[in-house]
Amino acid sequence: MPKELIQIEPQQPQPPACDWRGTKPEFRKGTWCYSGTPQNLTYLEMPNPRPWQPSDQDWKLPENWKQILLDGMKERLEKYRSFRLFMDICVRCGACADKCHFYLGSGDPKNMPVLRAELMRSVYRRYFTLTGRLFGALAGARELTEDVVKEWFYYFYQCTECRRCSVYCPYGIDTAEITMIGRELLNLLGCNTNWVLDPAAKCYRVGNHLGIPPHSLKDNLDFAVDELEEITGVRVDVPIGKKGADILFVAPSADYFVTPHYFTLMGYLALFHEIGLNYTFSAYASEGGNFGLFSSHDLMKQLNAKIYDEAKRLKVKWILGGECGHMWRVINQYMDTMNGPADFLETPVSPITGTRFEHARSTKMLHIAEFTADLIHEGKIKLDPRRNDHWRVTYHDSCNPARAMGLLDEPRYILQSACNHFYEMPENTIREHTFCCGSGSGLGTEENLEMRLRGGYPRAMAVRHVRARHDVNLLACQCAIDKATLPPLMEYWVPGVEVAGVHELLGNALVMKGEKKRETDLRGQPLLEEASHA
Ligand code: SF4
Ligand code: SF4
Repeated sequence: MPKELIQIEPQQPQPPACDWRGTKPEFRKGTWCYSGTPQNLTYLEMPNPRPWQPSDQDWKLPENWKQILLDGMKERLEKYRSFRLFMDICVRCGACADKCHFYLGSGDPKNMPVLRAELMRSVYRRYFTLTGRLFGALAGARELTEDVVKEWFYYFYQCTECRRCSVYCPYGIDTAEITMIGRELLNLLGCNTNWVLDPAAKCYRVGNHLGIPPHSLKDNLDFAVDELEEITGVRVDVPIGKKGADILFVAPSADYFVTPHYFTLMGYLALFHEIGLNYTFSAYASEGGNFGLFSSHDLMKQLNAKIYDEAKRLKVKWILGGECGHMWRVINQYMDTMNGPADFLETPVSPITGTRFEHARSTKMLHIAEFTADLIHEGKIKLDPRRNDHWRVTYHDSCNPARAMGLLDEPRYILQSACNHFYEMPENTIREHTFCCGSGSGLGTEENLEMRLRGGYPRAMAVRHVRARHDVNLLACQCAIDKATLPPLMEYWVPGVEVAGVHELLGNALVMKGEKKRETDLRGQPLLEEASHA
């Protein structure tokens, strides 16, 4: 195990001379993300585009920055009842204190959820409560200064908005929502990170986070069709922009372009072909993910709007969504109220099994794991789990599908049907208690790597446990960010464990009509002898 991170101690072993309100963040290399470029701020029509970095002394804030922040806070206190409630009701019981992976990985007290929220509450008390105005520090209030702005930036970009802390809070305080407001307020001053704004700007201009233009999207899908044919002997058809299809399929753009996501895409294509689904991809709604969620409610709404717009244009009946994490938080918690109601669509009904998915009647959008689990349950597809016998699999519940939509059993049902060797990680690290990958909510950048490895430490230790006990060599998940950020996390803390999507494993096991004898899995890895002779 690497030496430099194994010592996880409080960052200040001796209590500071002053209370927490007087301490300042240290912008140490490896623990913060680069600022949004002026170009991206301009693309997104955001204020105060300028060259600056968080490590600079002078952040070049607008002259009236304080008034801008306080006005922004006032507006949001009036607009979001949850925000005001979360500012008022914390009793500082400490139940959340040791539940954040960033606190566990860094030992920094300001990464305790209660203290992270207090960074903003202290300002709220000073400017928006009578006791705070009258009694100041005695009432837990503090002045809004440039150092406070810097502290907000440092710690609101050390929260992955994973909501694990909220599971343990007796009042249901959702620190992720406080972080979201914190980032939104910082945006008003032009203080944001490029790893959030760059994908959002690409989505704004080109239609997806990776900036893949329509012709490249088609090329990539065609390439996946060729590769799938090479492995299975079956040539599949991939419709794009097909008017009148039953179903619009929307996936995170990483699925088209990067590995291991791409193997998940091959799994979808194999499945849709095998069941004869009348569906279509879209070159316009070519991104299900939404980095607006990590920036502001307005940007989230804008980026999300194209899904319903495209469903309307193509005259589909309902929408199916691929494996992603935050995409589903936006869909499940915000889409129908932000951009709906989508009355022009129907409640999703599987054309293969006839199952009506009542729980999706509001959004009209179904998660692929729900769709596939139903196919397996109704005996509509044939699986040969021996084709995954070279994998000893565990499952990482991605924070958003698990905690924001309760998608806990369906992925497990698929994995247990498609794999012979499946092992759960310890109970307090899975399902709604799952630990974040440490890089969600736009923190998956290289310059922030130390913090990512620290934040991912609790998840990695749970994987290490099942590796030691069951020789696990594959971590399955269903989130595009996880698929990008768990591989380096595993490489650092638990070498020998690879990362895969649920539908990659489903695609490996799927027995297709007319297929040739399979020699390899979807990523080209040879099957065990017994499986290839089956
Ligand atoms: S668990 Fe809830 S009430 Fe208790 S300190 Fe944390 S946020 Fe406050
Ligand atoms: S939402 Fe997640 S990252 Fe943020 S404070 Fe809570 S546990 Fe930590």
